[in-house]
Amino acid sequence: CGIVGYLGNRQATDVLVDGLSKLEYRGYDSAGVAVNNGKSELEIRKYQGRLAVLAEDLEKNPIKGHLGIGHTRWATHGVPSDVNSHPHFNKEKTIAVVHNGIIENYLELKAELQAEGYEFISQTDTEVAAHMVSKYYEGNLLDAVYKATARFRGAYALGVICTDNDQELVAVRKDSPLIVGLGEGENFIASDIPAVLKYTRKVYYLENGEYVHILGDKVEVLNENREVVEKKVNEINWDV
Ligand code: GLU
Repeated sequence: CGIVGYLGNRQATDVLVDGLSKLEYRGYDSAGVAVNNGKSELEIRKYQGRLAVLAEDLEKNPIKGHLGIGHTRWATHGVPSDVNSHPHFNKEKTIAVVHNGIIENYLELKAELQAEGYEFISQTDTEVAAHMVSKYYEGNLLDAVYKATARFRGAYALGVICTDNDQELVAVRKDSPLIVGLGEGENFIASDIPAVLKYTRKVYYLENGEYVHILGDKVEVLNENREVVEKKVNEINWDV
């Protein structure tokens, strides 16, 4: 029930685990991360249970990389399990997504994708998002996320990364919360402000139907028609 995403100079997993710990109040049954570590596959770790299980695994066996997405899950479709935990990914492990919410038409989309040869390994609605982005991906991640989300009904906050660009993170929100944290040479997405407050006090609040394109140290917010939206920077003056 929480999302964190990071692109910057720190080790992504440090920020992701710390950020997820600040979202624990939202409740969860599993936790996971995906990181672009410069290899041909994204490095993905995810476990049913406490965030500490993930954190201990990452301590023993760290992942190096500056771009990543993390998730704490509150299962709605598919039992709590390692396989059903997020991030979900395509077969090649070149695209990974984290998702809060429910993709209501997932059965219909799953049938369509299966007929096209996409293999599903989880029982979640979210896995549809991973394969749908993968299906539409032709080298432009933002394009693929626009095309995929045009097919979804329901509620979603999504964070998406791929292997092709370790300087790019795409996110979108519709009826699930998501904010952007604006740092110096680093940027964040998160379900809620406490997840980023250790790093920055500058945030964008996202409206429904807004997309976030983080490219290097630049952040662009776009609307459903893919027009750039001029966002107000909010200064957070409270602490957690
Ligand atoms: N519907 C998704 C699932 O069950 C996301 C749940 C959540 O928001 O954590 O995996």
